[in-house]
Amino acid sequence: REHAELEIRIMPYSDDQFMLIARDVTQLRQLERMRKDFVANVSHELKTPLTVLQGYLEMMDEPASMPPTLQKKAVGDMYRQSERMRNLVNQLLVLSRMDSAARGDIFERKVGMPQLLRQIQSEMQPLAQQRQQQLLFNIAELDMYGREDELRSAIVNLVSNAINYTQEGGEITVNWRKVGQQAELSVSDNGAGIASQHLPRLTERFYRVDSDRNSASGGTGLGLSIVKHALEHHHSQLQVSSKEGVGSRFWFRISAELMTN
Ligand code: ADP
Repeated sequence: REHAELEIRIMPYSDDQFMLIARDVTQLRQLERMRKDFVANVSHELKTPLTVLQGYLEMMDEPASMPPTLQKKAVGDMYRQSERMRNLVNQLLVLSRMDSAARGDIFERKVGMPQLLRQIQSEMQPLAQQRQQQLLFNIAELDMYGREDELRSAIVNLVSNAINYTQEGGEITVNWRKVGQQAELSVSDNGAGIASQHLPRLTERFYRVDSDRNSASGGTGLGLSIVKHALEHHHSQLQVSSKEGVGSRFWFRISAELMTN
């Protein structure tokens, strides 16, 4: 194999002979690196908002050094930064919950998808309204087997991305429909779109296309990795097609065996 990392040990075999033991540790090392990167990323992401908060707190400790005009901005900034940390911690919790031991058979429970989707629609509507966006849901009467909390996370992340990365006045459409023996959920927007070179990396933890744009939107880069995980548990994969300046479509299919009707 190319670039394999081997751990080699030399052991005595007999009086005048030695034995070489080679162990392939490629995967082990790769996992270690991923874990280190992950911890470094989390620390960095938490440090940035904390630095902002501390800066303001120090200024408030000496009110003379804080011009009154800055006070309003300070409160706004502090609020946004703590919101950012809250999002990050919430998403980390969702990820770790999904990472931990398999929680029973995926066929154990039925998920009433139309009901779930209507709930998500009414939860997300105010966000879209704030941005003067149209949020349309076309929902077929199809249920499936699965884990409701994970499906909810996946769909909410896709819809909130569509809202965040679409300009004011844009349009977002969610379709849940039958395709042959399968069902398909898609979220389409006519927003910013994504350049093709980024597409293969979107579901990596902490990957963001444009970190400046995203810090304004409070993004963490964890959303799509949560979606990927949740879908893997449902034997499905996230698909995306997107064009910069035109819009994006994210979708996944649920195989016939997971459909209840
Ligand atoms: P974030 O928390 O930054 O939104 P995600 O993992 O959810 O992280 O998404 C990764 C990146 O993919 C985002 O930073 C954004 O650049 C891009 N992206 C995701 N969804 C869309 C979309 N609907 N339109 C344009 N870009 C998107």
